[in-house]
Amino acid sequence: MNSASTIKILILDDDTFMLKLLTQMLAKQGYTAVSSCDNGRDALTKIDDADTRPDLILLDLNMPDMDGIEFVRYLVDRQYRGDLILVSGEDERMLKTAEKLVHAHKIPMLGYLHKPVNPDKLSEIMSHWEPHLLEKKPQSNKKIYSAGELQSAISNHELVNYYQPKVSVKTGEVIGVETLVRWHHPTDGLIFPDHFIGIAEKNHLINELTTCVLTNALTQAKIWQEKGLNLRVAINLSMDNLASLDFQDLVVNLVTQAGLSPQGIVLEVTESQVMGADARVPLEILTRLRLKRFHLSIDDFGTGHSSLAQLRDIPFDELKIDQSFVHRAWTDDTLRAIYDASLSVAKQLGMETVAEGVEDQHDWELLRQTGCDLAQGNFVSKPLQAADFSTWTEEWKNRVRSGLIADSV
Ligand code: C2E
Ligand code: CA
Ligand code: CA
Repeated sequence: MNSASTIKILILDDDTFMLKLLTQMLAKQGYTAVSSCDNGRDALTKIDDADTRPDLILLDLNMPDMDGIEFVRYLVDRQYRGDLILVSGEDERMLKTAEKLVHAHKIPMLGYLHKPVNPDKLSEIMSHWEPHLLEKKPQSNKKIYSAGELQSAISNHELVNYYQPKVSVKTGEVIGVETLVRWHHPTDGLIFPDHFIGIAEKNHLINELTTCVLTNALTQAKIWQEKGLNLRVAINLSMDNLASLDFQDLVVNLVTQAGLSPQGIVLEVTESQVMGADARVPLEILTRLRLKRFHLSIDDFGTGHSSLAQLRDIPFDELKIDQSFVHRAWTDDTLRAIYDASLSVAKQLGMETVAEGVEDQHDWELLRQTGCDLAQGNFVSKPLQAADFSTWTEEWKNRVRSGLIADSV
């Protein structure tokens, strides 16, 4: 059983007075293993070290360099397993939006605190807190894999591609698929990419991983093409993949060798890491791939990593509105505003729009009403293994025929 004095808490706030104040408030409640950082980078260093990794983070939203939302993205990349309390001087609406973002990333949030922080509110939140002791979580969720394990998984062909359909909202036609990799682990079962992409990135395995995913996706694309199915196949690239010109040559060669045309391949890019001071190499690679007629897609739009600056710099063909702004946007004014703004930016720049995370009929109706081009999400289909694709296609055609396109909720 953990006692309050052994539970590790990290406070992240650029305001040093606030750090002291919160530390004192927590100490009064018996929490003494409290550390503090005044910037995101230092906090990430603590999270990366098993000895200092916190069980709970009190996170300020407004910080000058890395803000709270960006910090949450890095927590996701690092598979942070603790809890979070947001602290901010922003209004209720802003805090609620931030809370939704955190939920979308599946990080448990205990609540939020308005500045100036009321000690009673803090103690109320803390009194409801049950620390996420790691042993309570299922094995497959908490395990952190080593680079060696991931390397052998790649060599042993344990990485398997799943494909999630992207369909036209107007006609219901299946336009393409997004390739989503999973690890079929011999003992731990199905492992999702959020548990190993970050490891691949940190250990210089990401080019090997992406090559494996791409090779398998191209083989599958060829099979679909031979069956007369004209599907655009998307794969996810890491920013790290765009660090060397060799990788670009490799992509071009693999597509040519497979006898496929770059027009049928979509490269989805998110800025999942701080772009180095020198963004010229990724920019050059993306521009060259675009000149070779690959389709470029900006992923997770609106989450802070995919910014307007990238739209200005890189000639994207497609914009994917992040699922946290799509699901329930029909009923939530804040989400709706972000959804509408993303759609409008894309239209003005002549880009095709894809809404991710379409989970139910209400979401689907919103896309229809607002003229979003493509839909992707569990309402249409969860990610499928290639073998299940033709059965799903038949089912989908039946759904379209039976009025999905014409009906309204
Ligand atoms: P993403 O590119 O944003 O992919 C969409 C994620 O949303 C997928 O999670 C998908 O399974 C999930 N999803 C689909 N429909 C719905 C829905 O209706 N509701 C909800 N709540 N979620 C939905 P998945 O497969 O776990 O992938 C997570 C992330 O891992 C991906 O996010 C992508 O960034 C990354 N990833 C996946 N495969 C690769 C890869 O081959 N290379 C790289 N670099 N990253 C990959
Ligand atoms: Ca993607
Ligand atoms: Ca996405």
